[in-house]
Amino acid sequence: MVRILQGGPVAEAIRTHVGRKVKQLQQQHGVTPGLAAILVGDNPASSVYVRNKERACRQAGILTETFHMPASTSQGELLQVVARLNDDLRFHGILVQLPLPPHLEEATVINAVHPSKDIDGLHPINMGRLAKGEPAFVPCTPAGVQQLLLWYGYSLEGKHVVICGRSNIVGKPLALLLLQKAPGANATVTVCHTGTVDLAGVTRQADILVVAAGRPNTITGEMVQEPTVVIDVGINRVPDTASERGYRLTGDVDFDSVAPKVQAISPVPGGVGPMTIAMLLFNTLKAACHTVGAPCSLPPLPKGDP
Ligand code: NAD
Repeated sequence: MVRILQGGPVAEAIRTHVGRKVKQLQQQHGVTPGLAAILVGDNPASSVYVRNKERACRQAGILTETFHMPASTSQGELLQVVARLNDDLRFHGILVQLPLPPHLEEATVINAVHPSKDIDGLHPINMGRLAKGEPAFVPCTPAGVQQLLLWYGYSLEGKHVVICGRSNIVGKPLALLLLQKAPGANATVTVCHTGTVDLAGVTRQADILVVAAGRPNTITGEMVQEPTVVIDVGINRVPDTASERGYRLTGDVDFDSVAPKVQAISPVPGGVGPMTIAMLLFNTLKAACHTVGAPCSLPPLPKGDP
């Protein structure tokens, strides 16, 4: 019987821990962690995501404000807002919601966020630190994938982790995170991408398969084998006339053909998604703790099955 790795309960435990630490930080140092989100344009998925982040921040006692700018915003105007937020002491973290409209250069905007406020971990300094094994802010989705596996009792030590996708947001930083010689990592990592010749030949060798390809059904039943644990990072909106919204969310894995063949799988929605938000709260707390030299760590892993 396949095990379904729900992200909700794990994310809730992390968010509760963050909420407790936020109170401690306020009581002991008079500091309330703050997160500024910049949303440019009206991408519906981004708007939903930012709203979910706002709600989660408020529940954890984190100050949050969204700077919603029109789709016509120029590069200069956006950089000015980033510069202002870099200097705004109320905000310890700045999140630029991606994707940006096509006329804006994502890399330039990401590079403009001060590394000490880069709670998404996408700035080249934070990415470089991760590559060197000296992580500061680990990108939220890769950190969420790692925590999800560890909370459900799956050690990564010595495991063959196959990652499908090499983006700067998910695939690459996840590979860097899991190959670190550190507790909760130390895996043998293979990264597959659009240039991979025999994808199924590689995915069948995985102890743990993480799929972040941005395409539904990238992985199907014949591409996996029984002992594998599958983490589906993908979030795709596919048209669905039976749904009131006209679409449904699906991952990058064909759940129906893969789930019966593997040991465990994370669902979409409800798997990695909640973990990403929980790790964003944690990174914001961490940024605030840094400003006063307070320690900051994730909650201890549960003993046995959560
Ligand atoms: P991306 O489009 O930037 O990158 C996709 C990567 O997958 C590319 O590197 C490409 O080489 C690779 N790829 C595509 N098709 C492939 C194939 N058939 N075989 C092998 N490799 C293939 O996407 P991204 O930003 O990394 O996001 C990936 C998915 O994860 C998307 O569905 C996105 O919506 C989702 N996502 C979810 C969360 C979350 O919180 N759950 C966060 C970020 C992204």
